[in-house]
Amino acid sequence: MPKTTSTNVTTSHTLYERACEVMVGGVNSGVRAFRAVGGKPRFIARGRAAYVWDADGNRYIDCLGSWGPLILGHAPAQVRKAIAQQIAAGTSYGAPTEWEVILAEMIVAAVPGVWQVRLVNSGTEAVMSALRLARAYTGREKIVKFEGCYHGHADAMLVKAGSGAATFGLPDSPGVPEPFAALTLTAPYNDLDAVRALMAEAGDQVAAIIVEPIAGNMGVIPPAPGFLAGLREITNEHGALLIFDEVITGFRVGYGGAQAMFGVTPDLTTLGKIIGGGLPVGAYGGRRDIMEMIVPNGPVYQAGTLSGNPLAVRAGIETLKALREPGTYEELDRRGAALESGLRKAADKAKIAVTINRVGSMLTAFFTDGPVTDYASAARSDRDRYARFFHAMLDAGVYLPPSQMEAMFLSTAHTGTHIRRIISASRAAFKAAG
Ligand code: PMP
Repeated sequence: MPKTTSTNVTTSHTLYERACEVMVGGVNSGVRAFRAVGGKPRFIARGRAAYVWDADGNRYIDCLGSWGPLILGHAPAQVRKAIAQQIAAGTSYGAPTEWEVILAEMIVAAVPGVWQVRLVNSGTEAVMSALRLARAYTGREKIVKFEGCYHGHADAMLVKAGSGAATFGLPDSPGVPEPFAALTLTAPYNDLDAVRALMAEAGDQVAAIIVEPIAGNMGVIPPAPGFLAGLREITNEHGALLIFDEVITGFRVGYGGAQAMFGVTPDLTTLGKIIGGGLPVGAYGGRRDIMEMIVPNGPVYQAGTLSGNPLAVRAGIETLKALREPGTYEELDRRGAALESGLRKAADKAKIAVTINRVGSMLTAFFTDGPVTDYASAARSDRDRYARFFHAMLDAGVYLPPSQMEAMFLSTAHTGTHIRRIISASRAAFKAAG
């Protein structure tokens, strides 16, 4: 693992030491600590458009985008203006506002499977609430998820497959009681036969199948043709609900998310990231008859002091408004395609085996021959190579996700010039990785 760098990062290192004294691992979310790539994290001082600057003043082209929310880049003018106006008007009331209605109307108009929505504070909270609702609606307790899909850190979701295709879950994290984990069944991503087998056995106990319609948390893995439609059929057949976790893909791969892109409508959808424009937010929504079961209209409890927070909602509204501009997603796709082909050529030239999976502006370069279609094939990537690549790119001023099993995100602030610079940096970085 590389531990040294030619860049001056002394302030970051001092901050990290201070942070480690008072914050576990020096961070407030595990993967930020760079453990998957070695070395020490950079502390970020500011961001603007496609760039971030660290505490030592080093500038990076940011390909992380705060893990997805920043589809307009850092600190876009209209978002700043809306937040500033809202700060002057007060930051929280604990009572409904017109802004929440506007954002909810925008989400309902955009996302095919959402007729009603409830705003919460994070993707984790959205998923946790959607699962409770699915269980209440169906009167069943089991949930099916896919190996390598991440749905936040609620107990029921910290489970991945054991060795067999139809394995009962074992907790991934100490602290998750086994009886909870046992209610979560897992199948390999893109494997409809495994899902059919699981449902043939336990379908009448399954409340919902939850899936990232494009996986983003084992690197980017698109659904195989027919996979999502197959899940729709199977859930219908067994009276289970289908939940699309579009916390990443919502408003990322298109204005209607992955469900509009693939023409498959789930019963419930979870959202987050982009709909908060870089402020803390989450949402779950779906069929009206299901959503009607939530308090105050129904018995399923869910609440939040800061839910629908006006700052987050106004940042979200401005972000969605910008994304509605004609041509936005086509342009994001063109930039993504240019990056993909440039990286592929650079890797070929350096004779490094790389498989690039991309959907629009989300992309992962896996250090493996591929194809990468599920967790097992993603896990075959050479993570030490990725770590060397990551550090070489960082030293060259490009900030990538600090783990092989994550997605790069582009924004509307990434111009052709930025893409060319990333590709140019990658030529030496691929050589360094080898
Ligand atoms: N679902 C998906 C698909 C995610 O990618 C994430 C976070 N990356 C979550 C849920 C959890 O969201 P949060 O981190 O806001 O709790």
